[in-house]
Amino acid sequence: SITPAVLSAISNGAKSGILVKGGIHLERLAVLKAIAFDKTGTLTLGKPEVTGFEMINEMDRVELLSIIASIERYSTHPLAAAIVDYATKQGATVSTSFEQIDDHAGFGVSAVVHGSTYRVGKKEFVTVKHNPFIHFEENAEKEGNTIVYVGTEDTLIAIFSLKDLVRSETKNALKTLNKLGVQTVMITGDSEQTAKAIAAESKINEFFASCLPDEKVTIVKKLKDRYGQVAMVGDGINDAPALATANVGIAMGGGTGVALETADVVLMKNDLTKISKAITLSKRMNKIV
Ligand code: ADP
Ligand code: MG
Repeated sequence: SITPAVLSAISNGAKSGILVKGGIHLERLAVLKAIAFDKTGTLTLGKPEVTGFEMINEMDRVELLSIIASIERYSTHPLAAAIVDYATKQGATVSTSFEQIDDHAGFGVSAVVHGSTYRVGKKEFVTVKHNPFIHFEENAEKEGNTIVYVGTEDTLIAIFSLKDLVRSETKNALKTLNKLGVQTVMITGDSEQTAKAIAAESKINEFFASCLPDEKVTIVKKLKDRYGQVAMVGDGINDAPALATANVGIAMGGGTGVALETADVVLMKNDLTKISKAITLSKRMNKIV
């Protein structure tokens, strides 16, 4: 029920950019034991930039970049936008002449161009026999870059590294949550090595990497069993099921519509420090109630 104390807490939250969609969510914030965070767009800015590109010698660089840009233009993923941007600056032209094109959320995009199947996305999605870019890959991942692979049939033809900056407030926001007795966890579809680098930079307590979109839900369930009340923070379409599974779903205000709709709490200014503010607000309210 909406008591004056609940109403006042919700209104105080709104004033500081925390939109809470009901008293029950505010009550639960006080008793959270762990918070799971999506990586891209949540712990990081979600605006990756291409930091490197390598390809096999047999192809023309601009021609290949044109094919890749045309494929990635079909995706709404932030990595895809960064690749299209990079390719265009390198002189690539974007066309739409595909025999077929499919977006595989959480994996990448596949397309048939002039009778050949191209795949652009994560390693598991672009299955290949041989990786000629192994040194490039290792160095880039160590520095927290995300790798995007490009393959035709069973041959790896090109590789991108992309860097997405950790938000300036991430580390402090996570530290404050620890002080409130809340465990912090990262869940990402990105690789183990990249996740490890971003986790170290954020000083997050634990992380789960290489997660498929529906595995985010499984991990939230596991965390609920292990810790009790658990929140999930995310921004993407992929995160919506995990937001719904958590005891409290928290969306970044700049996130996609589906995430905003599914969430119980919205951080209007994308500011992660607001989570500990919301918890403190909730604890104060519960004391009054
Ligand atoms: P995150 O958990 O970091 O938000 P996602 O689940 O959205 O990641 O995607 C997981 C991985 O799938 C990305 O790190 C990337 O390697 C790959 N991927 C997904 N979509 C694309 C795309 N359109 N282009 C390139 N890579 C993609
Ligand atoms: Mg995301």
